[in-house]
Amino acid sequence: TYVIAEPCVDLLDKSCIEECPVDCIYEGGRMMYIHPDECVDCGACEPVCPVEAIYYEDDVPEQWSVYTKANADFFEEL
Ligand code: SF4
Repeated sequence: TYVIAEPCVDLLDKSCIEECPVDCIYEGGRMMYIHPDECVDCGACEPVCPVEAIYYEDDVPEQWSVYTKANADFFEEL
């Protein structure tokens, strides 16, 4: 799955939403989140993010590693 990290917080550019073929990017409070079970790893969202907030799960920068769980946890709470 792809993961949205800290640069998205309080920005919510949402360019990614239009690119996602399975509509698995959701708005939640201060940032956007990718549903880990719905993402098909197409990678279409990553290059359109103006702040490079989106990463493949294995490529999430160390300082933002908590966002992998944060994306998944967001949907657990729904
Ligand atoms: Fe959607 Fe593809 Fe991005 Fe996954 S990688 S969130 S399927 S656009």
